[in-house]
Amino acid sequence: MSRAWNFSAGPAALPEDVLQRAQAELLDWNGARASVMEVSHRGKAFMEMAARAEADLRELLAIPPGYKVLFLQGGATQHFAQIPMNLCADGQRADYVVNGHWGEKAASEASFYADAHVAASSKADGYTSIPDRAKWELDPRAAYVHITTNETIHGVEMQGSPDVGDVPLIADMSSDILSHPLDVSKFGLIYAGAQKNIGPSGLVLMIVREDLLERHPRPLPRIFRYAEYAAADSMLNTPNTWGWYLAGLTFQWLKHQGGLAEMERRNRTKAELLYAAIDASGGYYGNRVQPAARSRMNVIFNLQDAVLEPVFVAEAEKAGLLALKGHRALGGIRASLYNAVPVEAAVALRDFMAEFRRTHG
Ligand SMILES: *Cc1c(COP(=O)(O)O)cnc(C)c1O
Repeated sequence: MSRAWNFSAGPAALPEDVLQRAQAELLDWNGARASVMEVSHRGKAFMEMAARAEADLRELLAIPPGYKVLFLQGGATQHFAQIPMNLCADGQRADYVVNGHWGEKAASEASFYADAHVAASSKADGYTSIPDRAKWELDPRAAYVHITTNETIHGVEMQGSPDVGDVPLIADMSSDILSHPLDVSKFGLIYAGAQKNIGPSGLVLMIVREDLLERHPRPLPRIFRYAEYAAADSMLNTPNTWGWYLAGLTFQWLKHQGGLAEMERRNRTKAELLYAAIDASGGYYGNRVQPAARSRMNVIFNLQDAVLEPVFVAEAEKAGLLALKGHRALGGIRASLYNAVPVEAAVALRDFMAEFRRTHG
């Protein structure tokens, strides 16, 4: 059995080099005569690994001084609730720009702690665009503005970072963090579930500006307070040690590949290959997302004849192209092209699409 090309939306493909390295050191990590999962997170070896992972991430993203990096748990979804808990006074307004499923969910979870105001939404067009910045209804007194830079289900991505004035900009980057260079200084807080572009599920990465950690809008148990995690170097309690370790290996791999500029080049190449194939298919394959908002991470498309979609998915799987079934909310096909998916995988999918069209035209 050999590994197939994996287009899973998440948990998603990990770099093969990272898996091989983890396999090689699984039984005896770093001379510990035990695996990395079986040693104390407070031991010297683990602490050094953890610090190196953070340093590598800081280098990759050129994180400026004044930001903390946190290695958390709970998935991105838990932080939909925990962010307003930490940053909003009861009923204080927080602005949400919604361009897909995840932004909608973030706003809905925030409503338990904040006046979660949808400042702009592209729901009316079926989430096929990014709401025009000129039309965002932002309140300068809002606790923050929340955006989702890449909507994993709707295949919509925001390029660049919007100017929202002095209000802190918060971004759920679960499915596009580390896919291109980023100006972190534009953001108050960035968070991402690890299982798309970083490592295994169960780990959440957060990059947060220190002044935001000084907000204490309500009494909270320590276990929910970001400031406590920051003060304890993310070791308030036992962290996800395996996830942290694999994330660290992924950061090293990214550095060896040439960093985020090289990742951006590859990600653009992969996405352009597939969108070009869709656009040149004479309507056989279709994608309704506005060209400027098309995601480089999640390429979604439909077949003109929807009856053929399950056939496409099944035949692709036989041909070694895994997990192409679209999200249950939208149907269709979705190819996720995170960092660990090589350009050859996108080429193989493009060729399969041409062959499928020829034989099922
Ligand atoms: C997958 C995803 C989530 C949900 O992540 P969990 O870790 O399962 O909670 C949230 N936001 C975006 C953009 C995602 O892609």
